[in-house]
Amino acid sequence: NADTAMYHAKEAGNRYLFFSDDMNKQAVKRLQVENLIRLGLKEDYFQVYYQPKMSFETGKLVGMEALVRFVTPQKGVVSPGTFIPIAEETGQIVEIGDLVLKKACVDMKRWVDQGLIDGRVAVNLSARQFNLPNLLQRIDEVLEETGLSPANLELEITEGTVMDSPQGAINTMYQLRDRGIHLAMDDFGTGYSSLSYLRKFPLNTLKIDKAFVDDSKSDIGKAMIDTIITIARNLGLSTVAEGVETVEQQRFMADKNCDVLQGYLYSKPLSAEEFARFARAEINFDIVPPALVPEKT
Ligand code: C2E
Ligand code: MG
Ligand code: MG
Ligand code: MG
Repeated sequence: NADTAMYHAKEAGNRYLFFSDDMNKQAVKRLQVENLIRLGLKEDYFQVYYQPKMSFETGKLVGMEALVRFVTPQKGVVSPGTFIPIAEETGQIVEIGDLVLKKACVDMKRWVDQGLIDGRVAVNLSARQFNLPNLLQRIDEVLEETGLSPANLELEITEGTVMDSPQGAINTMYQLRDRGIHLAMDDFGTGYSSLSYLRKFPLNTLKIDKAFVDDSKSDIGKAMIDTIITIARNLGLSTVAEGVETVEQQRFMADKNCDVLQGYLYSKPLSAEEFARFARAEINFDIVPPALVPEKT
């Protein structure tokens, strides 16, 4: 038991024992989260929230990112930062990702039909999901079941996901693109994609990671954003800035002709109900004060 291990570790002054005790606690925590996820999948604790994306050119809503929320009676809201890495390891991310895709397509179809939005809903795909042999089949099924047009769907993948096996990734990406689904490289600049591969990936969009947006005050930070946007332009890709929180950041990204802005300045991720309200309000980021609709998670 953990206390006994700690006691012996102190007695012996043995670093390895401390280490293994720590690992033990981590393993227990992971098992708890894994069990909670299993329960959550059964009891429908997973919800999908939507964060608006604003066009710089028009100031208007052009789409949204679907972000999973794990709302449990036992532990409250468990953040994606905690449960997604564990779900990735256990493989549960496949089932979670599938339900996020399904819910996002159902909601988007309804909103498109209502004339509330005419853009794309962006769904994050984990590496495990992306590499599933039946990924395309599953996406086709969901589009068919929900009736959503592929023109209303975008998938966000990370550098790590595609660099594991770049040639396979390129093939999958072409097949998604052939269907009219847009592809965005998420958290761009934080992973290890090579520029020579970047040009071979049939992407539509680069999402500039929040870390760069945060650093847009410093000279080096400015230069990095400049460079990323220049690369995107040269490859014919549009750009999205993630995590825009301040008017200064907005101004800087706008000056650099970043196409789409996403962040707390416009809105936190919203429940489906709140998102519909946001879309109905026809918010224009130039005139409406930020954080109009608070997050309820
Ligand atoms: P991401 O895909 O890069 O999503 C952006 C994250 O930044 C979201 O965190 C969002 O709430 C947060 N964010 C957006 N604007 C701001 C801002 O102005 N300030 C701050 N501080 N944060 C902002 P979230 O929802 O906690 O998700 C974290 C990560 O978890 C996501 O990063 C994504 O990698 C992963 N994730 C979320 N939902 C899913 C999903 O359905 N499937 C998969 N595979 N991964 C997901
Ligand atoms: Mg994302
Ligand atoms: Mg991101
Ligand atoms: Mg990010």
